[in-house]
Amino acid sequence: MKATLAPPSSLISLPRHKVSSLRSPSLLLQSQRPSSALMTTTATRGSVAVTAAATSSAEALREGIAEFYNETSGLWEEIWGDHMHHGFYDPDSSVQLSDSGHREAQIRMIEESLRFAGVTEEEKKIKRVVDVGCGIGGSSRYIASKFGAECIGITLSPVQAKRANDLAAAQSLSHKVSFQVADALDQPFEDGIFDLVWSMESGEHMPDKAKFVKELVRVTAPGGRIIIVTWCHRNLSQGEESLQPWEQNLLDRICKTFYLPAWCSTSDYVELLQSLSLQDIKCADWSENVAPFWPAVIRTALTWKGLVSLLRSGMKSIKGALTMPLMIEGYKKGVIKFGIITCQKPL
Ligand code: SAH
Repeated sequence: MKATLAPPSSLISLPRHKVSSLRSPSLLLQSQRPSSALMTTTATRGSVAVTAAATSSAEALREGIAEFYNETSGLWEEIWGDHMHHGFYDPDSSVQLSDSGHREAQIRMIEESLRFAGVTEEEKKIKRVVDVGCGIGGSSRYIASKFGAECIGITLSPVQAKRANDLAAAQSLSHKVSFQVADALDQPFEDGIFDLVWSMESGEHMPDKAKFVKELVRVTAPGGRIIIVTWCHRNLSQGEESLQPWEQNLLDRICKTFYLPAWCSTSDYVELLQSLSLQDIKCADWSENVAPFWPAVIRTALTWKGLVSLLRSGMKSIKGALTMPLMIEGYKKGVIKFGIITCQKPL
């Protein structure tokens, strides 16, 4: 089943200053305190008890994520369609975009991500793709159609997996794409089988970033590409040990509603990939390109249709909507960064 890939032909190298690197990832990730009540462990109970608490809090987080997306995915699809991720806009675009404009921006996000990673339209080597944290499968169906590739999506939400499979069937794509419930930290796949490993806005949910990255690398074929597009906190500056308390406080409030554990920075991802000897590691900060997104989501939530759907959808959706202004504040104050990180597994 193993596929061997030559390096994509048109890899764009990022200027060195854009690839930031900070301290050792293991140190950094340990230094971040769990931001959600779900992730809290008590050090005084002894290591066995702490491990057990960590396991059960990881389970609680997984359950919370599954329930959150079980409840909110229908509403999102009704208003925003099948892509559950930010749109990519020209910086400073002040145009009030129509619904179709935002949908185009979401497709553009996929296209820009592929382009940044050097995966081009002519790419014939992309035969097998895994969509890690697939939502209702918008990326999988798009990528499968674009490259004629086979795509498997995994999500924690049974509701999403079913809807994703139903949409694939409705688009006559079931022979190419399929979706299942599985954990990104323990993927049900053999080593080295995917030419493209795609994680669009799921990394922020992962309680153990090192394990997450290792698992992405494990399933990637030699010569294959990994693309992680994710919410990060800003890079810490030299000598800085942690975020400021007000910054951490802001992130904690977002974590509670969106079922997120501790955040990390793009530099942390870069260092994790470096520690695993990945090649052609590149990252970029696309925060400016996503700036119009949350204000647009809030505007749609405040329409009559949006409000009725929100009330029908339930408390998790309502809490989610009330948390959106915090995302805008986080971007404006430079605490939240929208990052893309990509690399290639050596042949
Ligand atoms: N990538 C999709 C959905 C983003 S929403 C899109 O762009 O449309 C975040 C997704 O990550 C959800 O589908 C959620 O179930 C998934 N997710 C979060 N933690 C996960 C985990 N540990 N394993 C698998 N999927 C996970």
